[in-house]
Amino acid sequence: MKIWKALFEGQTITCMGCGASLSESIHGLCRRCASNIPWLSELKCRICGRDMDCPDCAGIRRQGFICNRSAVRYEEPIIDWMARYKYRGDEQLSALFGDLLQLAWKRLTHDIPKLRGLPVAVTYIPLSQERAMERGFNQTEQMAQRLSSLQGFKVFELLKRVRHTEKQSFKSRTERAESLKHVFGLNREEAGRLYHWASKQKKQPVIVMIDDIYTTGSTLREASNVVRGSIPLPIFCLTAARS
Ligand SMILES: [Zn+2]
Ligand SMILES: [Zn+2]
Repeated sequence: MKIWKALFEGQTITCMGCGASLSESIHGLCRRCASNIPWLSELKCRICGRDMDCPDCAGIRRQGFICNRSAVRYEEPIIDWMARYKYRGDEQLSALFGDLLQLAWKRLTHDIPKLRGLPVAVTYIPLSQERAMERGFNQTEQMAQRLSSLQGFKVFELLKRVRHTEKQSFKSRTERAESLKHVFGLNREEAGRLYHWASKQKKQPVIVMIDDIYTTGSTLREASNVVRGSIPLPIFCLTAARS
């Protein structure tokens, strides 16, 4: 496959999951690791892309995005690979997660064929400055870049964090939503770039917003509301994993 030729140019070919050397690769993984990927199977919730009945999306009144699609369930070995990528700085995994986003995009355009061939502006959830400093990179930005280079999309850094938040992982749904209020602000310079780019497109573009994991959707909801407040383009979300 073409992607893999590019990915492996100048790199030693080992499995990103277990480190075994590869004779053939499936998304940069050996056959065994690839067979352990917990793919999201059947779509049950058309809003958040879950494969089980979803009480979460029923009560939501206002959200800036139309729907989310993910590629995999947030289970092992994805949890482990994500932790290696985000917290232990194993940046080669950006390729795998970027590919998962591409699969999520394929899922979205399968469900909404009208999206095919439209110009796409990709944006992503920003890290707070504190976290960017300690991590040295933003995983969602890397994943957005990877998806965009695979698909020929254009990346815009539409959001900035105006406030630092504590880790979301241990919070309840309501706590999450509360703590995210007024966390994001619009990056006006990039919004200007987007306007300029959009005005030159033959068709109306859509915005694709990237995050690594979709949990309750509150981060993407808050972020997309900020973008929608100033930019009247439809927003779709892509996440690598659905928890
Ligand atoms: Zn492996
Ligand atoms: Zn849902």
